[in-house]
Amino acid sequence: MVTIADLNADDLQTLRNKVLGDYEAFRARGLQIDMTRGKPSPEQLDLANGMLALPGNGDHFSEAGEDARNYGGLQGLPEVRSLFSSIMGAPADRIVVGDNSSLALMHDCLVWSLFKGVSNEIEPWSQQSGTPAFICPVPGYDRHFAICEEYGIRMLPVPLTGHGPDMDMVEELAADPDVKGMWCVPKYSNPSGEVYSTEVLERLASMRTGAPDFRLFWDNAYAVHHLTVHRHEIANILDLCEQAGNPDRAFVFASTSKVTLAGAGLALFASSAVNVKWYLARAGKRTIGPDKLNQIRHVRFLKNIDGLHQHMEAHRALIAPKFNTVIEALEKRLAGTGVANWTKPEGGYFICVDAMEGTAKHVVDLARQAGVVLTPAGATSPYGRDPHDRTLRLAPTYPSLQEVRLASEGIALCILLAALEKHCTALAHNP
Ligand code: PMP
Repeated sequence: MVTIADLNADDLQTLRNKVLGDYEAFRARGLQIDMTRGKPSPEQLDLANGMLALPGNGDHFSEAGEDARNYGGLQGLPEVRSLFSSIMGAPADRIVVGDNSSLALMHDCLVWSLFKGVSNEIEPWSQQSGTPAFICPVPGYDRHFAICEEYGIRMLPVPLTGHGPDMDMVEELAADPDVKGMWCVPKYSNPSGEVYSTEVLERLASMRTGAPDFRLFWDNAYAVHHLTVHRHEIANILDLCEQAGNPDRAFVFASTSKVTLAGAGLALFASSAVNVKWYLARAGKRTIGPDKLNQIRHVRFLKNIDGLHQHMEAHRALIAPKFNTVIEALEKRLAGTGVANWTKPEGGYFICVDAMEGTAKHVVDLARQAGVVLTPAGATSPYGRDPHDRTLRLAPTYPSLQEVRLASEGIALCILLAALEKHCTALAHNP
């Protein structure tokens, strides 16, 4: 097949008119489909309906006999910490269970590092002479970037390679003492879906950092969110950091937001013993203790790690067909045209499309006019600015399979139409 770049002016115009006609027909259907955020669908939430009746009347005591209705238990119940130990890559005594949002824990860790410092021996980031900066793999998670923006942390974009960030660039940037941290979504990354390689993990754990108080914000949000039978595993970042002589480098986060209930899950933190002590000292000023009834509810419902993996299989059965549908629609309309590349993720919540350079905003606009709402173009870059204006994040989990099919056909059309219009305009200016 010839790519659209190979077409002569007449053929290009003819194709553009045809695709425009298809787009108009699509728009005339008057659809209203939201593909903006990686939210679980109602059917996925239904999988955890059994939790709504838990822990049940009278069942409010932990294994140790602690009354979960009362205050206290800042670190979380030991049986809950044990349940998540293999996911967090740390023994139960180096895990903290928070309330429902891991993003809130990341926010807290960043704010405490800014205002209290990462230890007693070192000044808070905000009181040191330079402006603190974070390394931000791109495309990345917009809410990570929003936290940095909120607190005036400079963001330093680094491209992802398909198996983690470009480590030569990361090492160069990390040598600067003002660079205090780095966002990482190491497995089924949001939105590229990539899994960081062992080599990348080893280099992150062992690299020289100019700042002695540098921290990896290790957001393992999709640790158990597989889309195929292959359950990808990554090396243990806490162990690698310890082996490399940097035992306190990584703050590890995860949650059950996309395991059980997105608004009523459990958020988890794990790190070195020193960092857990630091965390608890700060957290103890913020709360008297977490929601332990929800913790008991989770243990009763998931039971053990096998129960958790089984539950994730049920999610996979619901959402993998949606991902396949998007990929089929993109392939059908765009394969061989040379206008876009897209990921085929084996886990996580997103498909990432690189449309033709300079067209992503136009694609989002065309889709919106046709009733399909996409994540704003640029959202996957710091400050919402995609220098290439090409990356689109598709979130297929929430709409129904039928809606996902329709929306993806429309999105593929918009990507093609935007590229054709760009080519036609370029030809008109430069015949
Ligand atoms: N991290 C990443 C990478 C995410 O994609 C999301 C959800 N979209 C979150 C964190 C939010 O997690 P939580 O619900 O635990 O706050």
